[in-house]
Amino acid sequence: MAVPKRKTTPSKRNMRRAHDSLASTQAQECQNCGELKRSHHICSECGHYGDREVLEAGDTL
Ligand SMILES: [Zn+2]
Repeated sequence: MAVPKRKTTPSKRNMRRAHDSLASTQAQECQNCGELKRSHHICSECGHYGDREVLEAGDTL
């Protein structure tokens, strides 16, 4: 089995982990009610997707 010759330094380890954080998701306004929603997802407030109602109000997602 291949084994690293040297221990990774804290500096190199942290440089590698600098890109590990998750990017924040893009939120867009719902076309129907104006609430912020994730793009390509049903609006959690009014249940609309695109220009039509997919879920009745009160339905659990
Ligand atoms: Zn909505």
